[in-house]
Amino acid sequence: MKAQPAASHFIDGEYVEDTDGAVIESLYPATGEVIARLHAATPAIVEKAIAAAKRAQPEWAAMSPTARGRILKRAAEIMRERNRALSELETLDTGKPIQETTVADPTSGADSFEFFGGVIAAGLNGDHIPLGRDFAYTKRVPLGVCVGIGAWNYPQQIACWKGAPALAAGNAMVFKPSENTPLGALKIAEILHEAGLPKGLYNVIQGDRTTGPLLVNHPDVAKVSLTGSVPTGRKVAAAAAGGLKHVTMELGGKSPLIVFDDADLDSAIGGAMLGNFYSTGQVCSNGTRVFVSRKVRDEFLSRLKTRTEKIIIGDPLDEATQLGPMVSFDQRQKVLSYIDKGKAEGATLITGGGIPNHVTGEGYYIQPTVFADVTDGMTIAREEIFGPVMCVLDFDDEDEVVDRANATEFGLSAGVFTADLTRGHRVADQLQAGTLWINSYNLCPVEIPFGGSKQSGFGRENSLAALEHYSELKTVYVGMGPVEAPY
Ligand code: NAD
Repeated sequence: MKAQPAASHFIDGEYVEDTDGAVIESLYPATGEVIARLHAATPAIVEKAIAAAKRAQPEWAAMSPTARGRILKRAAEIMRERNRALSELETLDTGKPIQETTVADPTSGADSFEFFGGVIAAGLNGDHIPLGRDFAYTKRVPLGVCVGIGAWNYPQQIACWKGAPALAAGNAMVFKPSENTPLGALKIAEILHEAGLPKGLYNVIQGDRTTGPLLVNHPDVAKVSLTGSVPTGRKVAAAAAGGLKHVTMELGGKSPLIVFDDADLDSAIGGAMLGNFYSTGQVCSNGTRVFVSRKVRDEFLSRLKTRTEKIIIGDPLDEATQLGPMVSFDQRQKVLSYIDKGKAEGATLITGGGIPNHVTGEGYYIQPTVFADVTDGMTIAREEIFGPVMCVLDFDDEDEVVDRANATEFGLSAGVFTADLTRGHRVADQLQAGTLWINSYNLCPVEIPFGGSKQSGFGRENSLAALEHYSELKTVYVGMGPVEAPY
């Protein structure tokens, strides 16, 4: 099998197998071929991983920040040296085109290790608080054993975006990738250990929705960071609340992208296409409700249709391919059923809407699809589709579009394209979302915080903000004189 790892799990610095676990077949989405066969973690494997993490964490936290940072930065270097092989694996795992994975997946994971390695080496320092004769100081302390649970759209990136700040802050991690994409995280674990990470600090175990709760409910786990859908987020947050655990929730969205009539239309169309078709539309922050000023709507749609129909769909391992298959048969069925609903509820299909007939074989391909005349109440305008389906809605004025953009339970991201920067900032200020873009879309460098508001979650990944979510403040009051007691 093309991508069979040495074993299903990576625990305490080595590959571990337990064939009692349910079989997880990893399918290459472009062909449906089984490329690896793994086993879900049994309760014994879960225990082993958490015990290894618990044992290793205190010593790691006691190491000098410079030494910890050096290891993370070395892992970043190895990831960059192996970018091609890691990208090919990511393509096999997800079906995303190699032209994307080589620039967006291992590289963004490496950025995260480099950034947090540098930050921790520079010091995660506390404050000194003068109190007259007395004083206090604060220090940021690690939480202990952190659990990361990943979605299938950016398996390597998610494994790094959770692992890097967790390790930098002095924690140990047990990471469970999505059952759809089990392969990449194992390589991240291997690389971290090759870079010098002491064993037990970054463990990967496989499993599905039945395995996750074993991790979340475990009494030795201090924190859970989930990337997944809103319904899963509700379950995981509720379970974590039972143990009063820290949580970061990176959940779904139905983000608005607003195009005003003064916008540079080619940039706005490019932004909308990237924000709907990149990774075959499987991006949480996608701007799937594209509000276009009625004054430029026809021109926008005509240029968008031309550009969309030129997208090269094909073999993800071919450098020329711009759009690969969806991650799974089920996900494609879900997206096709939303397309049917869009048609049935009266949206106008501008392009796409089905399975491309020039791609043969068993792959889970789907056409990039644009609907126009979408109204706020339509199912395709309200629910997260998580596929390459762009909904274009018309609007007339700023106040109206802001109200409509905010009329959703989600609040992950939002974007605005306009030549009027005052308006750009004014609208960004009013949109309810965790991450916003003006005249750009979906760029998430490690330096900026990323995360959602409303039902899209809480907590932030990346940037210095992420470290706050993987550590807590300890305050020490120091009395410098005699204690004056009234009794
Ligand atoms: P999902 O919610 O089905 O699964 C996510 C992960 O949670 C998987 O690893 C799954 O095995 C695990 N899981 C499921 N039930 C669980 C439970 N009860 N307890 C513990 N773990 C459980 O999501 P998905 O289909 O893998 O990914 C797509 C979703 O993820 C979309 O909604 C997308 O918007 C969201 N997403 C969000 C971000 C973000 O950063 N905000 C990024 C990527 C994807």
